[in-house]
Order: sequence, then C-alpha cells, then structure tokens
Amino acid sequence: MPQTLVLNATYEPLGVVSERRALILVLNQRATTIEESDTVLHYSGGAITLPAVIKLVKFVRIPYRHAVPLSRRALFARDGGRCVYCAAPATSIDHVIPRSRGGSHNWENVVSACHKCNHQKADRTLKEIGWKLKTLPREPAGAAWRILGTGKPDTRWISYLRPFGAEHGVA
Ligand SMILES: [Zn+2]
Repeated sequence: MPQTLVLNATYEPLGVVSERRALILVLNQRATTIEESDTVLHYSGGAITLPAVIKLVKFVRIPYRHAVPLSRRALFARDGGRCVYCAAPATSIDHVIPRSRGGSHNWENVVSACHKCNHQKADRTLKEIGWKLKTLPREPAGAAWRILGTGKPDTRWISYLRPFGAEHGVA
C-alpha cells in the first residue's frame, strides 16, 4: 500500500501514514502537500493526486523518542551496506559477541557482515579471532532512522530524510 511521509511543521520527519490518511489531513487543512505521488484518486467531481510527502501545519511536540527498531534494513543502512570486516556487500547480521556466548541482539552488538566473514568468525569473539572493528557499533541517531525501518522509502522522501540522519541506504 502506498504511503506518505509526514513531516513536522519544522520539516523534521515524523513517520509514515497511508496516502489516503495523508489526503484526509490535507483536505482537513491540518497538513499541506509538499510532494505529489503517482497515485491519482478519481471521484465523481474529478480527480486528485495523492501526496508522497506532507508537512503538518501546526508543530507537533514529540515528548518521547522511541528507540530505533533494529531491523536488517536499518542495520545495513547504518553500516553503509558493507561487511564491517572486509567491505564486501553485506548479506548477513553478525553478533559481535556471539549469541551462543551470551551476546545480545541490540544495536551495540550487531554489525553488517558478508556470509564468508560471518561463517569464518562463527562463535568466536573478535579477540579470539584477532579481528578489530573500525568503529564501535551503536544505535543510529536521527529521526529518519525510525522511518527507514518501516519499509521501502519512496525516492521522493530522500531529500527530506537526509538532513535528519539517514546518510546511507535510502534508495
Ligand atoms: Zn566480510
């Protein structure tokens, strides 16, 4: 189902809603259309193009920032789509401290890896295998990351997401 990116009045990305829900917000003058989608809705009186990006008229305060959901897509985006050990295209998730050794499934313990490195590392720690990480894994920061995890972003969203933390993998 096509979705619409919702921006706060400040242009900060807030999330995604269905195109029809977005249209209702626009018709109720709670939001304005910033980018149009390819979907044209026909009705008795004519036709209207559904929005790809809308911006809320009034600023909405978000009191609590939810953690960025850990997904394969978001993880690959964080690590630039590459294996952190050999820079080959990422195809799997590696737990830095293996799960079998008590490593947890969180942003601080997962990295993008290729199958070869993942298989080679197996259930060993980095110290045991003599590998090093260039940067310590951590939770990505920025509003755009919440949206990255929700599905395939529309190409028209990219320029609105980029200033808010999603440098990689938005395509
Ligand atoms: Zn690799």
